[in-house]
Amino acid sequence: MKQKFFDEGHTVPKCVNPGCDRECVARNWGNWSFKSECSRCMTARKQKRYVECDGVKYITYRGKEIGITIHKKDYCENHNGHLGFSCPVPRDGWIGFESGLDLDHVNGNHYDNTPENVKTYCKLCHGRKSILEGDCSSHKDSARTFNTL
Ligand SMILES: [Zn+2]
Ligand SMILES: [Zn+2]
Repeated sequence: MKQKFFDEGHTVPKCVNPGCDRECVARNWGNWSFKSECSRCMTARKQKRYVECDGVKYITYRGKEIGITIHKKDYCENHNGHLGFSCPVPRDGWIGFESGLDLDHVNGNHYDNTPENVKTYCKLCHGRKSILEGDCSSHKDSARTFNTL
């Protein structure tokens, strides 16, 4: 499946983080699903190798900033209810539970990693948004198998 991806002229999306131009990590070559960050940024974020200034996280390498900021928030961006329903978890309720936060592609294009197109939503809001928008419908290009049971 990996060879077919390149044979058909697709390119791996770039890391969402401003300042980074690396290719995203493949989540699953079987269905051409990619993470929204490159391996370096994802590791730095998970290992907390960054300095935070005014709410912006700057990735560091050997203690020095390398000009890359982390796009992913550590709260659900639907805390203000802009999706049309309220997030059931308070904005500061995600500390220690950051693994429950996903990156969502607003326009449904999973290859479009421009920062404006990628928002951080918790699994609760992400799931509800996907169902409301019909992401689980097989009629859409961005359809995914979504277990709604
Ligand atoms: Zn990156
Ligand atoms: Zn939420």
